Amino acid sequence: MVSRIVFGRGSFNQLGDIISPKRLNSKAPFIFLVDDVFKGNPDITSRIPLAYDDQLIYVSAKYEPKTSQVDELVEKIILTHKDRPSGIIGIGGGTILDLAKAVSIMLTNGGEAKDYQGWDLVKTPAIYHVGVPTISGTGAEVSRTTVLTGPDKKLGINSDYTPFDQVILDPELTKTVPKDQWFYTGMDCYIHCIESLNGTYLNAFSQSYGEKAYDLCKEIFIEDSLSKSEAQDKLMMASWHGGMSIAYSQVGVAHAMSYGLSYLLGTKHGIGNCIVFDHLEEFYPEGVKLFKQMKEKHDIKLPQGICADLGDDEFDTMIDVAMGLEPLWENAIGKNWKQVITRAKLKSLYQQM
Ligand code: NAD
Ligand code: ZN
Repeated sequence: MVSRIVFGRGSFNQLGDIISPKRLNSKAPFIFLVDDVFKGNPDITSRIPLAYDDQLIYVSAKYEPKTSQVDELVEKIILTHKDRPSGIIGIGGGTILDLAKAVSIMLTNGGEAKDYQGWDLVKTPAIYHVGVPTISGTGAEVSRTTVLTGPDKKLGINSDYTPFDQVILDPELTKTVPKDQWFYTGMDCYIHCIESLNGTYLNAFSQSYGEKAYDLCKEIFIEDSLSKSEAQDKLMMASWHGGMSIAYSQVGVAHAMSYGLSYLLGTKHGIGNCIVFDHLEEFYPEGVKLFKQMKEKHDIKLPQGICADLGDDEFDTMIDVAMGLEPLWENAIGKNWKQVITRAKLKSLYQQM
């Protein structure tokens, strides 16, 4: 779990005070990986506490993070600074948070990021790393994984060294998120809850977090009683609780199939989950019904026909990626999942998307 958390509107201002005791020496910089959407936005940039040899690197969140991107960032940092950094601070959405986690691991572990995609392959603790989410929903701020697309798989670096040492939850940072993106990333949280609460891995730990996040999502996306700032505060906590819920259970059908879309077509996580979840009534009838209401209420139009022109080889690639995620299927369906989830079944679902 994340060992230190600060929550509150404006708490981003505490970043300098929080990290300064962690500075190893004046030659060991803090590296700030910042979503390039904030380039030229003084409200954010002027509050980044740069000192000594600290470096700010803007990173685009346009594409899903790649293992090769992690390796390039690590190389850039090593070539620029003689000393190992004092810490990595990720400021952005799930994309930037995952990159920050992965870079902090790869600065202390040899080889390439792709070698660590899997479970508990990281042997050496990462350097100090801090996460500052600027959009709510993924739970990347709390999870023990960093999801990366590698040369032959899309899979996280899941390890005890992956979680942030410190997280700053400042809901005010999310006020500039565009509406469609707010919905897609928010629905990632909602889908985490549905998949966790309806999974066979459910236990009292994940249930207690999942139910809280689910209730918060309903308050935010269905009931109309919250002010903008209340909704921002609550969605940030929903994201946290949703992430905690899957930390001790697992996601399910939507995530498995969305990874397939993402691997082949580069579809981003939030919107990909929405596209898939929209077609999963038979697996999550109540959850999908409510999702459709939320979609309607917020006038969200999902892309249609994204698989219309795909060939058999391409369907096979997506199906291979999806079916490779065995724990997700076992959580969703049970130990006998292979009798229910056939290649033909997945193809017919993808063909509807
Ligand atoms: P994101 O980081 O991909 O960002 C989505 C868009 O929102 C980008 O265009 C970004 O620039 C913009 N944005 C972010 N904050 C903004 C702000 N305050 N104002 C204006 N624009 C802003 O979005 P995401 O949905 O948070 O993250 C998706 C990524 O998270 C995927 O790569 C997915 O694999 C990963 N993920 C990780 C975990 C985990 O546990 N590690 C869990 C779920 C998803
Ligand atoms: Zn997710």
